[in-house]
Order: sequence, then structure tokens, then C-alpha cells
Amino acid sequence: MSEKIQLHNLSAHDFEQCLKCSICTVYCPVSAVEPNYPGPKHAGPDLMRYRMKDPDFFNETLKLCLNCKRCEVACPHGVKVGDIIQEARIQYSQHSPSLRDRMLANTDFVGSMATLVAPLTNFFLGLSPAKTVLDKVMKIDHHRQFPAYSGTKFETWFHRHAEAEQQNYKHFVGYFHGCYVNYNYPKLGQDFVKIMNACGYGVHLLEKEKCCGVALIANGLSGQAKRQGENNMQAMRRSLSEGNEAVLTTSSTCTFTMRDEYPDLLKVDNQGVRDSLMLATRFLCQKIDEGKIKLVFRKDYHKKVAYHTACHMERMGWTLYSTQLLKMIPGLDFMMLDSHCCGIAGTYGFKKENYERSQKIGAPLFQQIKEVNPDYVSTDCETCKWQIEMSTGYPVMNPISILAEALDVEATKAVNSY
Ligand code: SF4
Ligand code: SF4
Repeated sequence: MSEKIQLHNLSAHDFEQCLKCSICTVYCPVSAVEPNYPGPKHAGPDLMRYRMKDPDFFNETLKLCLNCKRCEVACPHGVKVGDIIQEARIQYSQHSPSLRDRMLANTDFVGSMATLVAPLTNFFLGLSPAKTVLDKVMKIDHHRQFPAYSGTKFETWFHRHAEAEQQNYKHFVGYFHGCYVNYNYPKLGQDFVKIMNACGYGVHLLEKEKCCGVALIANGLSGQAKRQGENNMQAMRRSLSEGNEAVLTTSSTCTFTMRDEYPDLLKVDNQGVRDSLMLATRFLCQKIDEGKIKLVFRKDYHKKVAYHTACHMERMGWTLYSTQLLKMIPGLDFMMLDSHCCGIAGTYGFKKENYERSQKIGAPLFQQIKEVNPDYVSTDCETCKWQIEMSTGYPVMNPISILAEALDVEATKAVNSY
């Protein structure tokens, strides 16, 4: 079966609304460092007119696009520039995914294998000769540090240690944990369960969750991404019909993909799910504003935290929720970093041909973090975490993990026993 989904009715993404003001190009992080990239205005609405007449106008330099959507945030006329570019790549690219691209994109398969022998995998991926082989044979840049794999999957931990007690609560939410939590960092999922339970909510996992598919889309495997998207929507519909108030997430990129890329790029119907699918920080803020839950924090918690806005958080307009929660922690010295792409864009920065560009894009952000000198950087995106930790040496934590660290669990439980 072809890995490309067929988009018979090319949606226009409002490209006729383009005023040719070029503001999108000013905000494009790739245009700023890569003279060979045509830029969002030209690659998007300008060339779309030509591509609709003749697909030969497709240009393979469009693969340099990070899909950060900063052009869409900047556009004063609502043109979905990033979507136009991604759709063109899905529709017209002649570039077949290589073995490397397939490996980077199949996070569920690779994660399942790697966690089986996690100590060996982590040891191997840290060795210089292994990195040299990956660089020469697979074209994965040898500078890149891989995130460590966990010896126990989050799902395994949940079924063994948390699932039974979830029935003790009166209110429930579903949780889409994503690949990073499951295979690399179960602690984030455990922190999420800890907070929700303290707030009076039991947590249910989805039945048969699959990777959201963001890496599949980026690597030309849109057919597989569509199948996984349909599976996830079915699982979420079931979860909501079984009494879970919402389906919550702890990854901004997974959330953005399932809310916006599913219908816009993959033509996966997410109606009836989209409004109930959100980051945990948004759910918590809404419940706090409605007076339904309260968070009580430890008095001895003192940290300086610098918050980085991931590109897809910027696009969703949800930064406010994560920062509002962090600012509620009394002992937290909060600093907002300038909104700037970190340059990794999921699997993009792992590829040898992109590595240097990826680091150039992130350089102003790395510099600012070093100047601020925080205890932690905080961000809602796991791949931003990898990039910032590798490039600055500062530890990066999801806002949910910082909340869990600062939370007075017993006092929070006592005020939320509704
Ligand atoms: S910012 Fe919007 S209106 Fe201006 S050139 Fe880009 S797409 Fe066109
Ligand atoms: S999505 Fe990001 S990288 Fe791609 S054209 Fe828009 S601003 Fe540039």
C-alpha cells in the first residue's frame, strides 16, 4: 500500500487571502539561517498557485521547513502557510523515506524494542564508535545525543502500581501519554497521575493508544500516520463515552498534531473529540478558574525557572495555561524566555543534513538560557527538552513535573475531597 494519503480535494488553506506582506518570512526560523529555503510566502501561497496547475513546480527544498507554524502565527490574514507547505510535501514529494527516516518515525516500534534491552541500548547509543557508525551509515548526526530509554514502560508501571486505585475517585480523565512518557520518561506520566489524584481525579489510560504520528508525517509516512490517527480517535471517543471528562496530554506536539494536523493534513475526523482533548495544564487552569480544584504548594520549594514556549504551544495559544500554573508556586522565581524556535523540530535535528541548521536556529535561545542561568528550563515539548539539554547543559522539565515537585500532596488532597 502507498504510504501517501491521497488528497483529492486540495484544501486551499485560505491561500487566496495572502496579501504578499512577507511578515511570515520575517518570522520563519529557517529563512533566517538558510539562503536556499524559498521562505513561507513563496513556498506556500505563491507556489501553490503554480502547483495546482502543474505538480512539477514542487520543489524538494520544502523539506527544509520545520513545520513550526510560526508563519501561521505571524500571518495577519489567517493563511495556513505551514499547512500549505506540508500538504505539498505529502502530495508531490518524490523523496521516498529512507531506512533512517522510517526508524526515526516509527517511535512505537523502536521504543518497544529499545525498552526491552534499555541498559544495553543506552550504553550503545552513548558510545563514540556507535555514533560514528550511525553518522556514516544512517546519516544521523554524531553530535546528537539520544534520549535514554526506560527499562520499564509507563504503561507497565501504571498497570502494576496505579491502575487499581484509580477506581477510588469520583471524577475521571483519560490520559494520552505519548511515546516519550511510555518509552523514555515514565516519571512525567507518574507526575501527571500524582497531580490528578491529589486533585480528586482518577486516571484511565486509553485502550490501544498509538503514537500520534507527528514523526510519520514529517518523514513522508502520512498513510501510516492516518491509520494511527483513526485508531487514536476511536480510542478517545470510547474513553469519553465511558465517563472520562476529558482526554489529557503532557506533550504540546502530540496535542497539536491530534487536534489540528489530523483534520487539516491527514483528513482524520476528530469531531466530538477535539474540544475534550487538551494539555493537562489547560484542564487544571480551567478547573481552578471554575473553583472546582485547588493546588496547595510546599512552602520550602524555591527554584528559578525559565519557561520556553515550544512552537506548537505558540500556535495553539496555550502558553498562558502552563505559565499561569508555574506562577502559582509561591517559591518559584519565574522568567519568560523570548519566543524562539529551538531548532530540533522532532526528528529534523537528528538528520545529518539538518544538524548544523538546527543548531543555528536554536542559538539565540541557548544564549539567553545561559544568561538567565535558571535552576530549570521548563517547556511542554519533549523534543525541545532534548535540544535544550544537549545544547546548554541546563536541566529541562515539563511544567507538570515542576508542579508535582512543588505540590503539597496531602494538603491538596484535603482541599479537593469533593
Ligand atoms: S504573512 Fe500571510 S498575508 Fe503576509 S505574505 Fe505571508 S501568507 Fe501572505
Ligand atoms: S512552518 Fe516554520 S519553518 Fe516552515 S515555513 Fe512556516 S515558519 Fe518557516
